[in-house]
Amino acid sequence: MRSAGTGAGTLIGGDEEFQLIVAERFGVEKPTFQGEGPSCGVPALFIRLSRCNLTCSWCDTTYTWDWSRFDPRTESTRQTVANLLAWALGSAVELVVITGGEPLIQQPSLIPLVRGLLAAGKRVEVETNGTIAPDPALLVDGVCFNVSPKLANSDVEQDRRIKPAALEAFASSGRAVFKFVTRTVAELDEIGALVERYGLDPVYVMPEGTTPEGLIAITRVLADAVAARRWHLTQRLHVLAFTDKRGR
Ligand code: SF4
Repeated sequence: MRSAGTGAGTLIGGDEEFQLIVAERFGVEKPTFQGEGPSCGVPALFIRLSRCNLTCSWCDTTYTWDWSRFDPRTESTRQTVANLLAWALGSAVELVVITGGEPLIQQPSLIPLVRGLLAAGKRVEVETNGTIAPDPALLVDGVCFNVSPKLANSDVEQDRRIKPAALEAFASSGRAVFKFVTRTVAELDEIGALVERYGLDPVYVMPEGTTPEGLIAITRVLADAVAARRWHLTQRLHVLAFTDKRGR
């Protein structure tokens, strides 16, 4: 998932019911856009929640979960939903991307955040690894799930990264797109098997990489084969534009 920046905000606790563990939020002070998937290139605000239930070898946001390398006390803060809403609603940008880590670990507190954003006229994209089924309260107009099931290239055991019931729930929700981080043409067969088994649609293939050169090279390897399958090909536009700087 997209790496990002500073400005996690003030630690607030105790006085409000719903809190979320946040790694960072950005897009207000320094404008940016969604870099991946169906809204690629659209101006966006980002709320990155801390914590993940997977350990992908190529993860670019290890500061949300790898406590052998990072200190959770400095990499995350507890923030109230009210605080996050005040931040997001102070901007005219319509799209709010809730990402991670794995945001659905904190789903109970995510529901009031999403409701508040929608009530204020925002549109929400939730980026998830697809291992936790969405609460029906989040399957509403204005919410899209960008589901990114992990392939064998993540080096995560299959029974941890592929959860059939969760994938089936997303596939039948009508509110999900499925985005696969890919390095080789051979991996398209692995995606195809998941697509067929769980009815995943639409499919977005995204090159893996954190440098423009790496992304372009893999894009050129994949392009013809993705086009032949009539799938979408997406980029990591923020890496091309900002070379994977945090906070952009
Ligand atoms: S699911 Fe996303 S955040 Fe979690 S380890 Fe994998 S790439 Fe990183």
